[in-house]
Amino acid sequence: MQLVFASNNKNKIIEIQSILPDTIKILSLEEIGCFEDIPETADTIEGNAILKANHVTEKYGYNCFADDSGLEVDALDGAPGVFSARYAGDQKNDDDNINKLLTQLSAEKNRKANFKTVIALNLDAQQYLFKGIANGTITDHKKGSNGFGYDPIFQPDGFDKTFAEISLEEKSAISHRAKAVKELISFLHTI
Ligand code: IMP
Repeated sequence: MQLVFASNNKNKIIEIQSILPDTIKILSLEEIGCFEDIPETADTIEGNAILKANHVTEKYGYNCFADDSGLEVDALDGAPGVFSARYAGDQKNDDDNINKLLTQLSAEKNRKANFKTVIALNLDAQQYLFKGIANGTITDHKKGSNGFGYDPIFQPDGFDKTFAEISLEEKSAISHRAKAVKELISFLHTI
């Protein structure tokens, strides 16, 4: 079976292909001739994952899955959420986003937050959603230099280090993205 992964991230594609059974062949957007920017205009993380998967299935006729992630901060009613990448503006700068978030939370005692990943899978005219959550707190300053995005200010529950202070292997054992991918893979193993 062929399945498109609606992502331009080659590392993500290789990683997922390596975990899947040989009977499932992952195709990249490039391989199906999809070179346009896929719209990400929904106002929820779920909505954007669905938009991306539906774009490929409706325009190119393939079974497909797409992911979308974001950071949800309790004291900010779930913001930045779907706007995580461009929280401080369309330049999508990680430092600017972090600085904006730390300023918003400067007088806030409730530092609880979670990362969320949603994967939408379109398979033979059915749609399935898989979710992964990583709970934690927002630190009051940046710590560590690994990873990307909000990693330097996100301390996962049960750790005294941020995502940017632990190794990729450690992060992959507990991250929102890894949990959602695990759900997807368990499902694909059953079909
Ligand atoms: P994407 O949907 O995976 O591209 O994630 C959207 C945005 O959410 C990213 O640009 C980051 O700002 C933030 N984000 C998602 N996952 C992570 C993570 O694992 N660490 C830090 N930031 C993340």
